[in-house]
Amino acid sequence: MKQIFNLKIFEDVPTLLKPADYVDILLFLINKKLTLRLAFNESKSYNEVISWCKKYKFHYIISKSGFMYISKKYLLAWITMKCDDSTYNHTLILGLLLGYPLCCSRKVASIGELEIDNYENELISNNSFEEPYNIINPKGYIYGYSFISHVPCCASCNKSLKIAEKAYKVVKQNKDNPKFSIWKEYWFW
Ligand SMILES: [Zn+2]
Repeated sequence: MKQIFNLKIFEDVPTLLKPADYVDILLFLINKKLTLRLAFNESKSYNEVISWCKKYKFHYIISKSGFMYISKKYLLAWITMKCDDSTYNHTLILGLLLGYPLCCSRKVASIGELEIDNYENELISNNSFEEPYNIINPKGYIYGYSFISHVPCCASCNKSLKIAEKAYKVVKQNKDNPKFSIWKEYWFW
């Protein structure tokens, strides 16, 4: 059975997280991520996220480096943390755990994590992301108005489009809700 997006859970997400975190959280709540990863937030915000996790029965683990991994299964949160912290070449498997498509995870693995920002900048400046692929443009991620939380393997990645379409639909349906204001400002003004 298809799960419906639970607006209440998203409305209850603590404020004061980074704009990009809400993109990740939305994707997690529409089942596009096995594990949600949050990083570099204040411990006060994390305490609120912990209460949120407890309320909705999500499992979480916080790594030594201050990343928080949230999943419906504790084991998945733990595996994602171990994978992220490992010194092995973990880019591909980490991408899959975080819900990135295989093609995009492979691409990043082949480029190398250190080059990802350069690759992303080039992808954004060299492509116009024509419709319908406009919704997979990753440029809005840090500002909180993208529909994917990864760098797509190309400007016409259909796997990324599938994810973005689902997120777009949920955002459109709820655009007048204050929790969606950043997306609304960019996409539905
Ligand atoms: Zn792809």
